[in-house]
Amino acid sequence: IQQAQAAQQHEPATTLDGRRIEVVCNIAKPQDASAIVAHGGEGAGLLRTEFLFESSEQEPTVEQQIEAFKAIVAELPGKPLVVRTADIGGDKPVSWLDMPHEDNPFLGVRGVRLSFKHPDMFKRQLEAIYRTAKWQKEQTGACGLHIMFPMIAKMSEWQRASSIAESVRQQWNAPVLPLGIMVEVPSAALVADNLAKYVDFFSIGSNDLTQYTLAMDRLNPELCHAADSYHPGLLRLIEMTVKAADANGKWVGVCGNMAADPNIACLLVGLGVHELSVSPANVPAVKNIIRSVSFTKLQAKAQRALSMCSSEAVMAMYQNHDDLI
Ligand code: PEP
Ligand code: MG
Repeated sequence: IQQAQAAQQHEPATTLDGRRIEVVCNIAKPQDASAIVAHGGEGAGLLRTEFLFESSEQEPTVEQQIEAFKAIVAELPGKPLVVRTADIGGDKPVSWLDMPHEDNPFLGVRGVRLSFKHPDMFKRQLEAIYRTAKWQKEQTGACGLHIMFPMIAKMSEWQRASSIAESVRQQWNAPVLPLGIMVEVPSAALVADNLAKYVDFFSIGSNDLTQYTLAMDRLNPELCHAADSYHPGLLRLIEMTVKAADANGKWVGVCGNMAADPNIACLLVGLGVHELSVSPANVPAVKNIIRSVSFTKLQAKAQRALSMCSSEAVMAMYQNHDDLI
């Protein structure tokens, strides 16, 4: 069995009844990129670009950012790479940026809100992404880069972020890239039907979406219990996002930690998610479970999960997969 699984590692993940799920990876640094293909990942579903900002003594130059992006692109020929613009703030402060004390940093100026406060920094990052895209297109004739904005809570934030990106693109005469948003604030899921008309894709940030939906600090050891990612309230927000995306021909991924647990991966696929983004080491297990189950049965089970009364009840349902074959 192990040999058969190893041989399949680089094959796509398709359920028994033919539903194709893209399994991609979360990475933070150029050094992480080679592990993606080695583990059978089909690209990068989340590049956390904060690493470049957190590890420097000052803002990384555009040239440094381009160098980092090119190193990653080179490891992923012909594969998608979703670059998330810097998600600074909350649990990710940056020493060299003027960041006034906030009583509730997770509810404060983080993600795209911080980008709007420092628009030149935001534009320099977008410049680095678009110039990398232009280079890749010139080198290979194709480009797998996508841009994703973190912490979008309102339509106006999407409009502002996407129009800044478009102005930078035009300035550099760079290729058009798909532009998407993280769905990690409950309001974004609740208005996903409107957002889906404009964005090219959604990626559900279940770490933050769980924290904001349940009002539970994701870093508090007394609260960050795995079961909460099974909360029916969270599942309903995910379902709402998927329905909105499907109605508009857009795709939805999940890049929070929950996607990496094969049991929850079954639940997410049943809710209609198209892509799962996990650490490279988790790719084989997630692909294997997808190959062993039927999408039609996953869908029916996910509908039952949505009506459960508790996280624990949902969790209990997904301990066993015999009913999914
Ligand atoms: C998330 O919130 O689920 C996510 C993937 O982003 P981060 O963990 O970087 O906040
Ligand atoms: Mg997040």
